[in-house]
Amino acid sequence: MRRVTILGATGSIGQNTIDLIVRDPERYEVVALTGARNLDRLAADAVRLRAKVAVTSDDDSYLPLKERLAGTGIEAAAGAAALSEAAARPAEWVMSAIVGAAGLVPGIEVLRRGGTLALANKETMVTAGPLVMALARERGGTVLPVDSEHSAIFQALVGEDVSQVERIIITASGGAFRDWPLEKIAGATLAEASSHPNWAMGQRITIDSASMFNKGLELIETKEFFGVPPEKIEVIIHPESLIHAMVGFADGALMAHVGPPDMRHAIGYALHWPERRPLPVARLDLAKIGAMTFRTPEAARYPALALARRVMEQGGLMGAVFNAAKERALDGFIAGEIGFLEMAEVVEQVLDTMWSRDGLQNAELSLNTVLQTDALARIRAAEAINRMK
Ligand code: NDP
Repeated sequence: MRRVTILGATGSIGQNTIDLIVRDPERYEVVALTGARNLDRLAADAVRLRAKVAVTSDDDSYLPLKERLAGTGIEAAAGAAALSEAAARPAEWVMSAIVGAAGLVPGIEVLRRGGTLALANKETMVTAGPLVMALARERGGTVLPVDSEHSAIFQALVGEDVSQVERIIITASGGAFRDWPLEKIAGATLAEASSHPNWAMGQRITIDSASMFNKGLELIETKEFFGVPPEKIEVIIHPESLIHAMVGFADGALMAHVGPPDMRHAIGYALHWPERRPLPVARLDLAKIGAMTFRTPEAARYPALALARRVMEQGGLMGAVFNAAKERALDGFIAGEIGFLEMAEVVEQVLDTMWSRDGLQNAELSLNTVLQTDALARIRAAEAINRMK
């Protein structure tokens, strides 16, 4: 029996992870499942998977969760400390699928005890990549990528010498507005930004795909995960979303990872790593697909990409600034405070202010400074949003 924990079990990645685990009940013992507001799903899955503990991040939801688990023998817990405690419980494999910067601290707890962290939460790498990798090395922990692009790169690098990598190309679907006239995008509604042409995902990452803030996060994540300099990492629009990433080597070979847009592939690869096992994903019929197309992302359509490149160059705490400002700007767009394109303006203003006025150039990178920077960037983003109203 392999002990597993799923952080963010009630979300899109969490549910896909559960889908794989329930297919092989003899193999897995579920230690902890965590969620936030979806208590019905959290409790139902905790019972179905016979988890030891179910945790909601929301302090006020302790009693409602406890009531739902009454008589089942499953422990209920709530709040940030309980989340970290659940992550710290011994388990052979932990899925990190909380959305946003809230995933950072629980993920760090897993690495502190030398555990294996399957990382869907890209914000962990964006905000604290060097810390996370150093902690894993120091404590003998393992970080496995789950983002489809990073899983693809990871797979293309098996048995390869990273020093011979010439370039890494991550693909992007282009999101909901890839074919819209540019002048129409400023007026895009929440519903329009929340529909993805190829992938079924949580709402926040779907909107981040339309703006390409998601791809911006992934650029930074690629640099941190694989230790490749920014100028070797490219983004290309590939509307069919069949190639997830490509790695180019010194001899000119380009290794592409091709598969259907189904996150259970990347999750399953991380779940079974270092082995490969059969997965319930569709097999591609290439003759039926016929063609795959590629195009360069337009800078005016996707300002998030240039902002991410700037963050890759600046490094240090700027990843935490980028992510927190983006999260606050996204909240602002979801709440109707700002328009779709204003999200990038907010992030740009916060990057400018915090780099020059708040003196982040020489700041030390530690868990504390990351958390403080995250909090300050949200305040700066709220100020920028207020100026735009
Ligand atoms: P969802 O929004 O579907 O799920 C998020 C999960 O996090 C839910 O379990 C949610 O609980 C929980 N949660 C929300 N807020 C908090 C909080 N403050 N503290 C603790 N838990 C919280 O997101 P996705 O599954 O789409 O994405 C999860 C992560 O994986 C993100 O970082 C995303 O970028 C990344 N990712 C997702 C992909 C996808 O295909 N969906 C692909 C690649 C990466 P509840 O639902 O109970 O409120």
